[in-house]
Amino acid sequence: MRKRIVAGNWKMNCDLSETDYLLSRLLEQDLDPKVEVIVTPPFVNLYTAFNLLKTSSIEVAAQNMHFESNGAYTGEVSAQMLKSVGVQTVILGHSERRAYFGEDNALLAKKVSAALGNEMTTIFCFGEELEDRKAGNHFNLVKQQLQEGLFHISEKDWSHIVLAYEPVWAIGTGETATPDQAQEMHQFIRETIAEAYSTDIAEGVSILYGGSVKPNNAAEIFGKPDVDGGLIGGASLDAGNFAQIVNAFQ
Ligand code: PEP
Repeated sequence: MRKRIVAGNWKMNCDLSETDYLLSRLLEQDLDPKVEVIVTPPFVNLYTAFNLLKTSSIEVAAQNMHFESNGAYTGEVSAQMLKSVGVQTVILGHSERRAYFGEDNALLAKKVSAALGNEMTTIFCFGEELEDRKAGNHFNLVKQQLQEGLFHISEKDWSHIVLAYEPVWAIGTGETATPDQAQEMHQFIRETIAEAYSTDIAEGVSILYGGSVKPNNAAEIFGKPDVDGGLIGGASLDAGNFAQIVNAFQ
């Protein structure tokens, strides 16, 4: 059975004391033990988060990283550095990285390789903009993002990959893809992977949905057969809401 995963993308939120507070509240929640729960504080608080959570089953992941291991890349953080503070998983390709920091598929392909080279798990994000969907180009665009950013990896690398389909028009907007729209795209993603690799790989990879998932819509979205969980932005900043989303699987 595929892993069920709920990951909170904290984005550029929570200073040190807020991180401590949010994680302490999260540790008080009853979380479905069948769900892998991940939080992603900003870089400066990863080590604190790792230490606060190390006796719990909640994992800590990073929101980004550079593809080189070290050197003259001012302001950047490498896979080795993340691993040195206990981080084994990284989000790559979030739409905000693509839109505001110029991250394109070619750059993301290098980052994915660096993560795999360091035996880290990647949560690979992708998804169409509203114009693509209106133009009926969303399937093509998603396929291209996968082909150019991810499909250079080998079959065995897929055990270190989690996918996050996030239609850009639904991120932070309060607008959610309908459960049927999410299912339709997730099924297409699996078919695309099956064509490029194999049915086993396509059926084995967890595909998360992201875009305004809240306690009141999570159950319906997670109830779709090809949706294996969620990447949660805004609602992950409240421990109670995040716990309700984690516990939304039927
Ligand atoms: C995200 O940041 O990945 C996200 C899905 O945000 P939100 O849940 O706030 O739409």
